[in-house]
Amino acid sequence: MIEAKGVAILGATGSIGESALAVLDQHPERFRAVALTANRNVPGLRALVERHQPRIAVLADAGASESLLGGGATRWATGREALIEAATHPDVDIVLNALVGAAGLEPTLAALRAGKRVALANKESLVCGGPLVLRAAAEGGGELMPVDSEHSAIFQCIQGSRASEVQRLILTASGGPFRSASPDRLAEVRPGDALRHPTWDMGAKITIDSATLANKALEVIEAHFLFGVPYGRIEAVVHPQSIIHSMVEFADGSVLAQMGFPTMEIPVLYALSYPERLPYTCRRFDPVAAGALTFEPVREDCFPAFRLGVAAGLAGGCAPAVFNAANEIAVAAFLEGRVSFPGIASAIEDTLERWSGGEIASLGDVLEADAWARRTAKTFIGNQVLC
Ligand code: NDP
Repeated sequence: MIEAKGVAILGATGSIGESALAVLDQHPERFRAVALTANRNVPGLRALVERHQPRIAVLADAGASESLLGGGATRWATGREALIEAATHPDVDIVLNALVGAAGLEPTLAALRAGKRVALANKESLVCGGPLVLRAAAEGGGELMPVDSEHSAIFQCIQGSRASEVQRLILTASGGPFRSASPDRLAEVRPGDALRHPTWDMGAKITIDSATLANKALEVIEAHFLFGVPYGRIEAVVHPQSIIHSMVEFADGSVLAQMGFPTMEIPVLYALSYPERLPYTCRRFDPVAAGALTFEPVREDCFPAFRLGVAAGLAGGCAPAVFNAANEIAVAAFLEGRVSFPGIASAIEDTLERWSGGEIASLGDVLEADAWARRTAKTFIGNQVLC
C-alpha cells in the first residue's frame, strides 16, 4: 500500500488553497494535510483545521492573536518563522506554495533546502529570486513543480523530450476584462471592473495582474527560470477562451498544446502526483462546447506592464524583484482607490527607471531591492493626484 504523502498548503484560505483542498478530498489515500497556513484569516483557517486536522496551523501575521485559536490535535503558531516551520516540517513531503507576492520567496527557499517537493503557485518566488531558488533546489535536493496553469501545460507538453529539442514556449493569456478596451476606457477602470475576470475565479492580486497583463510578464520570467529557455524564445499570445493553457514548439516545427476547461484543480493534482496521473472527477472536456478558439497579439501599447516586466526579466539581477515589488504596491494602491488603472504601470515604470541595477548573490540582495522598490513606488503614488 502507498503511504499518503504529507502536504503543507501555504495560503490554504485562498483560491489556490481551496483548489488544493478539493484535490486532497478526492485522494485522501494519497495526500493528507499536515500543515495549513493563512495570513490573518482566523475563522477561515479554523474551519479548515476542524475539517482536515493538520499537525500544525499557522497564521503568518505575527499580530494575529493566539488567544483566538482553538486547541485539539493541531498545534497553532503565528509569525514568519512558524510559516518556515510549516514549510520544513519533517512530516511534509510536498509544499504547495500558494502565498501571494514576494512573501512566498523565503518559504520556497526553505522548503527546497529541506529537500521537499515544492508545488509552486507563488510565481513571485521565481520572479524575485529565480537564481536563488534554483540554487536552493540543487543544494537541498528539493524539486520544483509548476502549478500555474500555463507552466503546468508547458511541463506536460515537454514530457519525454530533450531540452535541446524545445524551440519556443508560447504562453496563452486570456487578455483580462479589458482585452479590447480603448486607452480612454482604461483610464476610467475602477477596482470593481478589474476584479471581474472573464474566465478565471482567482484572488484579488492576480486578478488585477491579469487585467494589466503584469501577470503575463511575471509568467514569462517564471517560465525562463523553470524551463531554462532564453527570453527571446518565450512569447505570449492572447487567447480569450482560456482553453489552450500554453503551447510548446519543438525543433522539427511540431507544436504541442495542453487544453481543458479552466480549473486550477488539474494543475494542482499533477504537481502533487507527478509523474503519475491520478483519476479525477471534474467537468470533462467537450470540444463542441468549447467552441471556436481564437488568438490575438498582446496589445503592448495599451498594457505597458507586460513590456516593463519582460524588460525587467531581460535586465536580470534584482530588476524582476523591483518590477514585482513596485507592482505589488501599485496594485494595493489601485484596490484602495489611490491610483488609477494606468497609474499601476506608471508606478512600475518610474520605479524601474530609478533603479540603478544590482546583482542577485543572496537573499539579502533581493530583500534590499524589494524594500527600495516599495519605498520608491509609494513615493510615486503619493505624488499622484487622482481626478
Ligand atoms: P488568494 O489571495 O486567494 O490567497 C492567498 C493566500 O495566501 C491566503 O491564504 C492568504 O491568507 C495568504 N497570504 C496572503 N498574503 C500573505 C502573506 N504576506 N504572508 C502569508 N500568507 C499570506 O491568492 P490566490 O490563491 O489567487 O494566489 C496565490 C498565488 O498563486 C499567487 O502567487 C498567484 O499569482 C498564484 N496563482 C493563482 C492562481 C489562481 O487561480 N488563483 C492561478 C495561478 C497562479 P488570508 O486568507 O489570511 O489573507
